[in-house]
Amino acid sequence: MRIPLVAANWKMNGNKAFAERFFSDFDLQAIAAQVVVCPPFPYIPLVAQVAENKERLSVGAQNLSQESSGAYTGEVSAEMLLDWNVRYVIVGHSERRSLYGETSELVARKFVAAQKAGLIPILCVGETLQEREQGRTLEVVASQLKAVGDITESDAWEGSVVAYEPVWAIGTGKTATPEEAQDVHQFIRGELGDVGNKVQILYGGSVKSANADALFAQADIDGALVGGASLDANEFAAICRAVG
Ligand code: PEP
Repeated sequence: MRIPLVAANWKMNGNKAFAERFFSDFDLQAIAAQVVVCPPFPYIPLVAQVAENKERLSVGAQNLSQESSGAYTGEVSAEMLLDWNVRYVIVGHSERRSLYGETSELVARKFVAAQKAGLIPILCVGETLQEREQGRTLEVVASQLKAVGDITESDAWEGSVVAYEPVWAIGTGKTATPEEAQDVHQFIRGELGDVGNKVQILYGGSVKSANADALFAQADIDGALVGGASLDANEFAAICRAVG
């Protein structure tokens, strides 16, 4: 059985006061899902402290270096994240791919660096609007997965999470219909091979409490990666409750 998982991606939003207020408002009661909060790096210790001894709450990071140490100014390694009890790390978010030029090959190296250190990578995949309109969604997603498959053993997927995030649905208010999302999730599960049934596959792209129930009702949608709506503690809690 796959445990539902909902991850918050705060992106470069908030500050210390925001993070403190978020957790005074966020009610873990009645949430059966695993919850991961991925704040900007400076607030990781704060979130880690809140998550301490809470079985269902973990801290995640939004990025990591593919290198383990050295002269890489501005980078943060997997080991450094582990020092702060980080458990999950997002790799290959579409904003990293499009704004910072991260290729699927680089993302795959980050995936490996995370796993090697004992972190759980949340690998983001998804097509642009143009690629969808060209009917290339599955081809694009398959090639993003293949980049990881090419440099890992086939069972590597088991210690990971995959997030299907159609780029055209991120931060736009447009969501894939539950059926559109399910089709891609089912395809991804097939691509993951023998361990596919054990991997949590999240949907991301303008998820909110109003559309969460319908998305989570789909057989292959195991939770969500939530951007904008995760900045509101009550709204995020409502999404978490919807999946449980
Ligand atoms: C995201 O950034 O991963 C995301 C899904 O954002 P939003 O929920 O705002 O679309």
